[in-house]
Amino acid sequence: MNFGLKKLGFGFMRLPTLSSGEVDIEQVKEMVDLYIDNGFNYFDTAFGYLDGKSEDILRQTVVERYPRNSFLIADKMPMWEVSSKDDLERIFNTQLERTGAKYFDFYLLHSLYEGTFKKAEKFGAWEFLKQKKEQGKIKHIGFSFHDDAKCLDKILQTYNDCQFVQLQINYADWDSETIQSRLCLDTAKKYDMPVIVMEPVKGGSLSALPENARKLFKKSEPNWSIPSWAMRFATTQDGVALVLSGMSNVSQVKDSIEIFNDIRPLTNEQMGVIGEVVDILNSTPTIKCTNCQYCVSDCPQQIPIPEIIGLLNRYNTYLNISGPKRSYGWSVEGTGKASDCIACGLCEEHCPQHLEIIKALKESAKVFED
Ligand code: SF4
Ligand code: SF4
Repeated sequence: MNFGLKKLGFGFMRLPTLSSGEVDIEQVKEMVDLYIDNGFNYFDTAFGYLDGKSEDILRQTVVERYPRNSFLIADKMPMWEVSSKDDLERIFNTQLERTGAKYFDFYLLHSLYEGTFKKAEKFGAWEFLKQKKEQGKIKHIGFSFHDDAKCLDKILQTYNDCQFVQLQINYADWDSETIQSRLCLDTAKKYDMPVIVMEPVKGGSLSALPENARKLFKKSEPNWSIPSWAMRFATTQDGVALVLSGMSNVSQVKDSIEIFNDIRPLTNEQMGVIGEVVDILNSTPTIKCTNCQYCVSDCPQQIPIPEIIGLLNRYNTYLNISGPKRSYGWSVEGTGKASDCIACGLCEEHCPQHLEIIKALKESAKVFED
């Protein structure tokens, strides 16, 4: 099942800005018009995107300019903002008001992992979504996911009336121990669950490959852009209903439309080239954190250690600096920052990989906070 979607979704999280720092509304309107004129219709927003402005901008640029039945909106319940049942209703009503959408075509519990899943259970978040669906305020219910395939299996068993799942699928994370793109996609397929792909270009990192990797792609397909390899890889996986792209200007919308109008499965030879690129990426020295989380619970400063180490690895592997920096800001929202580390050493005592966490956090503070 793919809901009859044309496979490119428009993510409203990296919109163009003016020199004042405000979102460039006129350019967003132009991007929206181009996207819709080419037959696409899926817009993805969230409560926290663009410091809470994304939903409002969606109203101004889409909802107030096109008939409601001509486009689809996906919005999400930010589980980290929920600390009571009342919060669910309050946030949902705020989202309806901000977007002016009247109803959501797709609605997700945002960023489920072991911790937020427990929280969702505690506050009855899934029941809340089902109730809103019965009231006609939501058409399809699902969740976005950031954990391993085992955890995904558990959630899909529990939410057996789930209609879709949003996963991080890209070639660099395909066999990674932490993201487990391939295993997560296999798990979704086991439940016959349509998959919406997020991070197909790994937050922009797969547009900023090291020079030797770029050369391999260019030699194989001189006319393809570097990010188009990542989009083609994600889109042509079996079970994928739609791929989200966080487009930031008119030319990126044009590029994406061009790619999606010419999507076909990659050949064995092209898959071989992707394999060589992944080998190059994996050969960059990185900190071998397995995301086991053993270091986290005793940290007196509540520092999200594995997330920060993951971003430091990304920073050191790819040429784009802004992607991991931006993600760092999100990762430490409401928690301790790398620079809050007091070097007590408790995390290193618990780390089965014997990693030098304190040193890694010092480096992270320097690259992400300076
Ligand atoms: S050394 Fe730093 S990161 Fe590790 S537990 Fe102590 S405060 Fe937390
Ligand atoms: S204990 Fe070590 S390997 Fe496990 S998440 Fe923490 S830093 Fe990574």
